[in-house]
Amino acid sequence: MKRVVVTGAAGFLGSHLCDRLIAEGCLVVGIDNLITGDLKNIEHLFENERFSFQKNDVSNFVHVSGDLDFIFHFASPASPIDYLKIPIQTLKVGSLGIHNCLGLAKDKGAGLMIASTSEVYGDPTVHPQPESYWGNVNPVGPRGVYDEAKRFQEAITMAYHTYHGVDTRIVRIFNTYGPRMRLNDGRVLPAFIGQALRGEDLTIFGDGSQTRSFCYVDDLVDGIFKLSQSNHHQPVNIGNPDEITIKQFAEEIVKLTGTSQKIIYKDLPIDDPKQRRPDITKAKEILKWAPKVSRAEGLKITYDYFRSLPEEELYKKDHKTFENYSK
Ligand code: UDP
Repeated sequence: MKRVVVTGAAGFLGSHLCDRLIAEGCLVVGIDNLITGDLKNIEHLFENERFSFQKNDVSNFVHVSGDLDFIFHFASPASPIDYLKIPIQTLKVGSLGIHNCLGLAKDKGAGLMIASTSEVYGDPTVHPQPESYWGNVNPVGPRGVYDEAKRFQEAITMAYHTYHGVDTRIVRIFNTYGPRMRLNDGRVLPAFIGQALRGEDLTIFGDGSQTRSFCYVDDLVDGIFKLSQSNHHQPVNIGNPDEITIKQFAEEIVKLTGTSQKIIYKDLPIDDPKQRRPDITKAKEILKWAPKVSRAEGLKITYDYFRSLPEEELYKKDHKTFENYSK
C-alpha cells in the first residue's frame, strides 16, 4: 500500500484525486490551508482510516512524519478571480510551496507530481497546443502571477529531477469541470450555471468567439493517476480536445438549465486567451489515456450537483477567508 500526500486536498481537483487514490488502496495525507479549498469537499473522507488531514500552508512549511511514496502538489488558487485577489499567495505556492514539497520528496525518496496548466501556453499562437510549444505569456499582466508561478514550478521540478534525481511528473491540466467547483469561483461553468439558477442573465466576456475545451473531472483524474504510474518526466497535457466557443457554451447551458434569461456581453478580461485546445497525442501514446465523458453527460452531472446545493450557496458573494488571510 502506498502512502501519498496531496496538497490542495480540499480543493476541487485535490478532493477528487484523494477519492481516486483512496479507491486505489493508498494511504492519503491531505494538506490544505483552506483559503480556496473547503472541508466540505473531503468531509466524507474523515471517516476513512486511510485518510488523514493537516491544515497547513505549504508555502511556509511542510512536514509529514513516516515513510512517503509520492506527493501530488495540487495546492494553488486556480480561477482567474482568485489569483487576481490573492496574487502574492498564488506566486508563493507555485514557488516556495513547490520548493518545500520537492525538499520533502527528496528527503523521503518519494516521487512528486505537479499540477501544471494550459496557462503555461498563455494566449497561444500554436493551435492545438502540443507539449513542445513554449507558450506566449505576458509576465506582467494580471494572469502573470498564475502563469509564471506554474512555469517556475515546472522549471524547479525539472531541476530537482535532473540535479537531485527526484522521480517527478508534470501534468498540464486544461479547463476541467465537475461537482465541487465553487459556485462563486468566477470560472465560466459555475458562473453560467449560478446565473441560471439565480434567474440572472448569463454574462459572456468579449464577443464569445474565444474557445475552450472542457474536460470532465473523472477523466482528468484518471489521466493524472495513469501519469503517476508511468515513468515519464516530461510534461504531459491532460484535457478534452472537444473545443467550443464560449458563446456556444452559453447556449448549451441555457438549454441544459431551461433558463429564460438572456445572454449579455461584458468586457473581455486583459490577456484572456483567444483559443485553447489540448493536443493529447502524447497522453494517448504514453498513458493509453483519452477522455471518455462527453460534455453532455458531464454537464448534466455537474448541473445536478449545483442544483442540489443549499440555496444560500447560490448567494455567497466571496470566499469566506480571503479578507482575513495574511499577505
Ligand atoms: N467567461 C465568460 N463569462 C463568465 C466567466 C468567464 O465569458 O462569467 C469567459 C472567460 O473570459 C474566458 C472563458 O470564459 O474566455 C473561460 O474562463 P474561465 O475563467 O473559466 O477559465 P480560463 O480558461 O480563462 O482560465
